[in-house]
Amino acid sequence: MRKLVLATRNRGKIREISAILDHLPLKVTGMEEYPSLPPVAEEGSTFAENAQKKALTVARFSGEMALADDSGLVVDELGGEPGVHSARFAGPGADDRANNALLLKRLAGVPPEKRQAAFHCAMVLAFPDGRTFLVEETCRGRILDAPRGEGGFGYDPLFFYEPTGMTFAEMDPAAKNEVSHRGKALRRMVKLLEELLSRGEL
Ligand code: IMP
Repeated sequence: MRKLVLATRNRGKIREISAILDHLPLKVTGMEEYPSLPPVAEEGSTFAENAQKKALTVARFSGEMALADDSGLVVDELGGEPGVHSARFAGPGADDRANNALLLKRLAGVPPEKRQAAFHCAMVLAFPDGRTFLVEETCRGRILDAPRGEGGFGYDPLFFYEPTGMTFAEMDPAAKNEVSHRGKALRRMVKLLEELLSRGEL
């Protein structure tokens, strides 16, 4: 069976992605089999650039096809920030609390109609020969002025999703996955993998 290496060391992500790919004739693994691979610096100016770099690095290093994603929050009023810096918005090593606190500070006094934002996700499938396939998805919402909900991670407690009247942290994981940037990108990636498999191109 062809191997697909998920270019992440995040166990939650590996579990979530493996479950969705589980019907495909692929052996899905994380990077634990490649402990000597150095971390790939996410220094690109776009999500796509970062995802492409991660996927290609892992594909070339492992000699197997690799799947990587890069995601973050884009806030209109902040000119697109935190964007590709979402994980370290409040500084190197910043945690979710610090990032959320800084986001609230930067948006202090901004009225609800000007607090529009979107989560973005770029996902790239790469091959050791250098071929890459990119899918990108977004999910639009609004940044509240105080956190709500206990679920999710990152900016979820501040991200209000209008159609459900809840923040991502108040929605259950399956409901979030239905509409989220990453859920949508992953489902498009599954379709792409199915097409490539049926054409015998994997
Ligand atoms: P990553 O590229 O998926 O590791 O995400 C980078 C950062 O973007 C995370 O550390 C979070 O701060 C933020 N982020 C990405 N996706 C989500 C999400 O679904 N909910 C909340 N925050 C997210």
